[in-house]
Amino acid sequence: MIRSFSRLSVLVALACSVGCGPPKDVPPGIPPGAGSQVAHEDDDFEDDFEDDGESDVAASPAAVQPAWMVQAAATITAHAKGKTRAWDRLATMTDRFGHRLSGSKSLERAIDWAVQRLVQDGFADAHREKVMVPHWVRGNESLRVTAPVSRELTLLGLGMSVGTRGALSGEVAVVDHVDDIAKRGKELAGKIVLINQKMPKYDHEHRDAAYGPTVQARTRGASEAAKVGAKAVLVRSVSAVSYNTPHTGSLSYEDGVAKIPAAAVTHEGAEFLARWVARGEAVRVTLKMGAKMLPDAVSGNVIAELKGREKPQEVVVIGGHIDSWDVGDGASDDGAGCIMAMEALLMLKELGMVPRRTIRVVLFTNEENGLRGAKAYFEAHGAEVHAGAIEADSGAGRATGVGIKTDDAARLAEVTAWAPLFKGLGADDIAAGWGGADISPLTKAGVLSMSVRPDASHYFDLHHSPADTVDKIDPAHLQSNAAVMALMAYLIAEAE
Ligand SMILES: [Zn+2]
Repeated sequence: MIRSFSRLSVLVALACSVGCGPPKDVPPGIPPGAGSQVAHEDDDFEDDFEDDGESDVAASPAAVQPAWMVQAAATITAHAKGKTRAWDRLATMTDRFGHRLSGSKSLERAIDWAVQRLVQDGFADAHREKVMVPHWVRGNESLRVTAPVSRELTLLGLGMSVGTRGALSGEVAVVDHVDDIAKRGKELAGKIVLINQKMPKYDHEHRDAAYGPTVQARTRGASEAAKVGAKAVLVRSVSAVSYNTPHTGSLSYEDGVAKIPAAAVTHEGAEFLARWVARGEAVRVTLKMGAKMLPDAVSGNVIAELKGREKPQEVVVIGGHIDSWDVGDGASDDGAGCIMAMEALLMLKELGMVPRRTIRVVLFTNEENGLRGAKAYFEAHGAEVHAGAIEADSGAGRATGVGIKTDDAARLAEVTAWAPLFKGLGADDIAAGWGGADISPLTKAGVLSMSVRPDASHYFDLHHSPADTVDKIDPAHLQSNAAVMALMAYLIAEAE
């Protein structure tokens, strides 16, 4: 195996014309003769993170990629290998600050920490940009079954729900689907409606969690039930798996419809209530929720840049959202995405890979219950030239690829053709998909948008629940997803 260090050194030297230090990790295995196309023979670039035995950066005989792209892929892939830095940082953040709901001190402290961390990493201009965010607080909450038996059930109020103003008691009526509420109509008046809508098992073949249709129960359930005169809503947690784990998340009250309290119950609790109702028993519960809205609070987006060497005014955004729900520690949703973006920027800096365009980390605030960070970023920066935007907000399972959202068919074809470059990271599923909630204003403005796509088959088991903690994340997976983000950002930022 020939190792062409000199070729890499040239690349690094060129890239380093903007004041970066020497590369710390010079990778082996830049394919020989990679002047005009991907090399096809097995080099000793070795196994990827996933040990699938097909680790070559150059996987597809059909792919022809410029040498600089092949080198970038090899360099970044090698750099990420064996490292746990991203996970170590995520654990530091989550252990120190915990969950990070908008309006909370922990969110603001985590934002300050991220800015400081980026400055220490050498991104001297890292800063926060002020964003006013909604400030919803949960308060105390409980759910007690009072008839036909007495039982305490696990409860987690839905984000943005109104409280119960004391105890709210009533008879439980069960529907299996949010759309059944309107069909049952006035029969549900005065009841506490349980929406026992099941999320199907994860569909591995289509890589589909069916989150979109299932989450309708959570987002629309309260207003649908209020329209027929229900007092409150209990929603079966939106997850395919439960170990008595409740899952919260935002609801959306329809304008002009009464706001009634809404909370998630666990699968176990929902099934318990449904069994009693199916027996023809009058099931009564007492719901207490101290939830309320406070005045908007000060928060901020975190911004840091690796300035482009030729077109610094053109930007590729990489990011995630720094806020989380107020349960667990928000490691998968979305501490992981934030750390990936920070890590991606640092990797490129360490490798001396300063691209033509600027790569800008944005850690958005308030994705979960307002998207104010996304809106504020777009208001402040939407007029700048954005060459692309990549969001990581699907957890940190095994890296599999990147989803692409664009109406430009030629651009889509161009980017999907880069897939073989991601093979070494186990992430060569580069295909049409979606962008991300925080970058959606950019997407609407026509910016090429992408989502880092880890294996999400267990993401919704954790999502918005007390189980979303950092121990669920494999350090190698987090590091390889960060590398995927770094490579994609670099390719977009460097391409002519
Ligand atoms: Zn998220």
